[in-house]
Amino acid sequence: MTSSALDQSAVLEALRRVRDPDRNDDIVSLKMVSGIVIRDGNVGFTLEIDPQRAERLEATRKAAEAAVADLEGVLSVSAVMTAERPAPANQAAPRGNQSKMVLDGVKTILAVASGKGGVGKSTTAVNLAAAFCLMGLRTGLMDADIYGPSIPRMLGLSGQPETASGDKKLLPMQAHGLACMSMGMLVAEDTPMIWRGPMVMGAIEQMLADVEWGHLDILVIDLPPGTGDAQLTLSQRVPLTGAVIVSTPQDIALIDARKGLNMFRKVAVPVVGLIENMSYFTCPHCGERSEIFGHGGARAEAARIGADFLGEIPLDIRIRQNADGGQPILMAEPDGEHAKRYLDIGKKIWEKLTLLSQTDKAPRIVVN
Ligand code: ADP
Repeated sequence: MTSSALDQSAVLEALRRVRDPDRNDDIVSLKMVSGIVIRDGNVGFTLEIDPQRAERLEATRKAAEAAVADLEGVLSVSAVMTAERPAPANQAAPRGNQSKMVLDGVKTILAVASGKGGVGKSTTAVNLAAAFCLMGLRTGLMDADIYGPSIPRMLGLSGQPETASGDKKLLPMQAHGLACMSMGMLVAEDTPMIWRGPMVMGAIEQMLADVEWGHLDILVIDLPPGTGDAQLTLSQRVPLTGAVIVSTPQDIALIDARKGLNMFRKVAVPVVGLIENMSYFTCPHCGERSEIFGHGGARAEAARIGADFLGEIPLDIRIRQNADGGQPILMAEPDGEHAKRYLDIGKKIWEKLTLLSQTDKAPRIVVN
């Protein structure tokens, strides 16, 4: 490509060189490309695919990125695969009253998910929210992990949220610059909560609709662990911009992460990527690195299943101690190595969410 301007037609022209491995045509002619966004040399677009072919099409996604990266003036390229949106006539009727909620004033919503409990999903959600805050974004954090709401403890919050004057809405509580809401703020910590399916969604909807979130650049939602009905309903009802999946390197946790990925693909929520938590352990005494749960599993799995790998967080006692002490490590040691890792991951996520939120609003490009 010589000196022609970087615009949508240049991007489409480059993408016409990329072929679908199973269908005898290129990805543009097959109408797989949508939502091209070009911002100061940074290009983003989505590839709409049948989720069953995600793994198979990972090489195609990479080839599409490479084709655009070759264009003059391109600084970065991000291609995200999303599930094909079925034509309205074929669209499965949502179960019950499941149209999407509207959250005015909230620009992007990120779900933090995990296939199973105990992998560090909440710890990651809190530190990512803290990273967004340090990046200068107006950030909210909602603890939808109603079975074990741990976010108030991790942020050192106690007491109850107040009601906005003249309104029945609750004000989120403030901690370390974050606006937060958790079921844990509304019930005593030692009250056992027994939730049946529909109650879970009811509680979550209240935390979204009956809380005055105000203007936020990003709302981080710490989902309940697992990939059951509650998570599925939430992903259908809440206008999520994207989701990240937290996993440890162990095989079993990765299998669960894969279930999470399939769940989001089913409901057409873009998975921004995988994060490997408890990735390795560095001995604080001798500096030796041990890979307690194996290492690199999430990176390999991400490549296999067609998701981006966002980064690794080590197993470190300071991460746990700070979480237990009510101050995320990112706030306690903003210049430390862990802060840098969370910030790197936070920046990657924000870049993708920005693209995805623009893509959603941009008119779909129809190419023949
Ligand atoms: P989940 O939300 O997946 O159930 P949590 O975030 O509550 O998991 O984490 C479970 C436990 O593991 C907590 O005690 C937390 O402090 C600890 N933990 C999580 N991530 C790390 C880490 N990278 N290093 C050390 N401890 C961690």
